[in-house]
Amino acid sequence: MAGVSRLQYTTEARLIRVMCSGRVDLEFVLRAFSNGMDGVFIGGCRLNECNYITHGNYDALNMALLCRKIMEHIGLNPERLRIEFMSSAEGIVFAEVMSKFGSKVKELGPLGKGEGIDQNELKSKLAEIRKLVPYIKLVNREKLASRLKNPEEYDKLFTKDEIDKLFSEIISYYIDPEKCQACMTCAKRCPVEAILSAKNQIHVIDQEKCIKCGTCLEVCPTKFSAVTKIIGEPVPPPLPEDKRTIVRKKKEKGEGDKE
Ligand code: SF4
Ligand code: SF4
Repeated sequence: MAGVSRLQYTTEARLIRVMCSGRVDLEFVLRAFSNGMDGVFIGGCRLNECNYITHGNYDALNMALLCRKIMEHIGLNPERLRIEFMSSAEGIVFAEVMSKFGSKVKELGPLGKGEGIDQNELKSKLAEIRKLVPYIKLVNREKLASRLKNPEEYDKLFTKDEIDKLFSEIISYYIDPEKCQACMTCAKRCPVEAILSAKNQIHVIDQEKCIKCGTCLEVCPTKFSAVTKIIGEPVPPPLPEDKRTIVRKKKEKGEGDKE
C-alpha cells in the first residue's frame, strides 16, 4: 500500500515478502545479522486479525521476543530487531514505522561496532547460535506457542536467567562406545541422519548435525543403554573410524571352534 500510494520511507530497507509473518524463522533473523544487516524489521498482520486458524503472527511475535533476548545475551542491542503489526491498508503506518526504525538503526551504528563487540567474535557467536536454532526452538516450544494478550507481558515471556541457562547448560547426546551394540535402532529413528551407522560398527553421533532432540536416548534398548545425555559439558571425542568394528563374542567362539 505504501508503494502504491508513493509514500516515502527509509531507502536502506530491502523488503522480503513472505506469505505470513509466522514464516520468519529465528534462523532467518540470525542469518540476516550474520550477513551484516544492522537491523531487522518484521511486519505482520494485526494480532487476532489473522485469516487463518494458525495465527502465525503470534509465532512471529514470540520468535522476535526470544531473538531479542538472545541478542542481549551476546551483547547486541535488541532494538535492532523490531516487530510491528498493521493491516495491508495501513501504508502510512508502515512508512512511518519504517522511517523511525531506519533512524533508530542509524543511531545504533553498524552491527557490533555500535556495541563495541569485536567483529570476529560476533561472527563466531552468531554462527554458534545459528547451529543451535533447532535446539533452541525445541527447548522453548511451549513458550513459542504462547498467545500473549497484553504487551506488558512481552518482556517477561523469556527471562535473562532462562536464556543464560539455555546456553550454559546446552544438552548433547553421546554414544558410549563400550556399550553400543550397533543395533542401528537410533540411526533409523534419528530425524536428521546425524548418526554415523553401519552394520557391526559402533555408532557415532555427528555433533554438527545433531539437533539434540533426544530420540536416540529414548530408543536405544534398555539392555544396551548406550546413549548418554551430557549437560553443559564437552562431548568426548568420537572413536577413530578404524576402531569402531564390533567383534561379537559368538563369532569369536565360532572361529575358535573351526581351528
Ligand atoms: S539427539 Fe536427535 S538429532 Fe541428535 S543424534 Fe540423537 S536422534 Fe539424532
Ligand atoms: S540404539 Fe543404542 S545400541 Fe543400538 S546402535 Fe544406537 S547407540 Fe548403539
